[in-house]
Amino acid sequence: MSEPQADVTVVKSPVYLKYRFTAGSAPARFLGRLKEGVLTGQRCPRCSNVYIPARGSCPACGVPTEKEVVLSDKGTVQSFTIVSIPIPGNPIEPPYIVANIVPDGANISFIHLLSECVNEEVHIGQRVQALWKPAAEWGYSMDNIRYFRPLDEPDVAVDRIGKLPVTGLES
Ligand SMILES: [Zn+2]
Repeated sequence: MSEPQADVTVVKSPVYLKYRFTAGSAPARFLGRLKEGVLTGQRCPRCSNVYIPARGSCPACGVPTEKEVVLSDKGTVQSFTIVSIPIPGNPIEPPYIVANIVPDGANISFIHLLSECVNEEVHIGQRVQALWKPAAEWGYSMDNIRYFRPLDEPDVAVDRIGKLPVTGLES
């Protein structure tokens, strides 16, 4: 009689996905400006919200957004998490911070890394700025920004996050 075997609880099965991303006109403009080192959004002609990255229409009003707005690479932490678990294939050593950052001039956030900070001191309303890679390395990707890092500026009140104007950059 053979020994009873333990239940199988884990099966490792590598999955590879190869895909092409067709940007569409609004994201293509966003990515083109990103390659020039410029963050842009689009303003809704009805509600005036500025979206980054723009998808070509306002999800609230359902109207096209065609006016491009140049945004700051300074922003405010809207929310964040401290990642403590290593992610397979990700070269970044935990613990590290992933934050939702609202760039000045926009009304919504995007996700990016936050570094050069004390993780336990990161907080909502904290001011941050992008650290860009050298221009020679810029492509059509948010990876042009290595990460965001804290700015020595006063915090933004929670109800003011996503409502800051861009000074001197509006196109
Ligand atoms: Zn709108």
